[in-house]
Amino acid sequence: MSKILLVTGGSRGIGAGIARMAGRDGYDVAVNYNKSKAEADAVVADIKRHGQRAIAIQADVSREAEILRLFETVDRELGRLTAFVNNAGIIASVGRLEDFSFADIARSFDVNATGPLFCAREAVRRMAKKFGGAGGAVVNIASAATTLGSANEFIHYAASKAAMDALTYGLSKEMALEGVRVNAVSPGYIETEIHYDGREAKILPNIPMQRAGTTAELAETVMFLLSEKASYVTGSILRVSGGR
Ligand code: NAP
Repeated sequence: MSKILLVTGGSRGIGAGIARMAGRDGYDVAVNYNKSKAEADAVVADIKRHGQRAIAIQADVSREAEILRLFETVDRELGRLTAFVNNAGIIASVGRLEDFSFADIARSFDVNATGPLFCAREAVRRMAKKFGGAGGAVVNIASAATTLGSANEFIHYAASKAAMDALTYGLSKEMALEGVRVNAVSPGYIETEIHYDGREAKILPNIPMQRAGTTAELAETVMFLLSEKASYVTGSILRVSGGR
């Protein structure tokens, strides 16, 4: 049976790393993006070099109609999903809670919480046995921020990402007899463009391993959780944070 994966926010950063590694590991991959078409096309080209099928699909994962269109496009172009990585996310603004606007807080929850919950719904509707699916695996990209709290940086982000933890615990139980495993990876500081300038130097002293993580290190963990090697792992949140 072919392995078919959708990665949201697969155009850049962690999502792009996961999509590329999935090509290496024999998945056909749908690479979702919002704005970065050229980057998404480059990821698709790299996956095709491994002999796998790959497509780029534009969709804003904070919008219901676009999420529905995204999943329908995967059905039509690649076939029924067997794997889903709920990755797209944003840091809407940086500061203290007392400074954030309602719009910043709402956008954080739309992209980091509401959209991913709805995406997970669409994924299990394709994978669960009760819907005629063949089972599968979901990996939610959470954040170490949910337990650290992100004081003086982005509490609204940390709070919105906490939804990924709850989604993982709850959905893993609902899906335990449906052939679908649901896990999360909780990254610490991974080198990508999500960070504001100068953040690395500020954060490094707080990382026990004293370095940033790479997207490849993160992607290897995700590939493990998606694979049959993790056949008895569900409802787990695996921290990839250099000890932070
Ligand atoms: P990034 O480099 O900024 O990449 C974000 C990706 O998400 C891009 O591909 C972007 O696509 C996509 N995206 C953003 N908003 C979207 C939307 N509304 N609809 C569809 N796609 C959207 O960030 P990253 O560091 O790789 O972060 C990936 C995930 O890891 C996020 O969920 C983040 O919260 C989590 N995380 C990251 C770190 C870290 O240290 N990097 C730590 C903890 C958790 P376009 O460019 O096409 O818009």
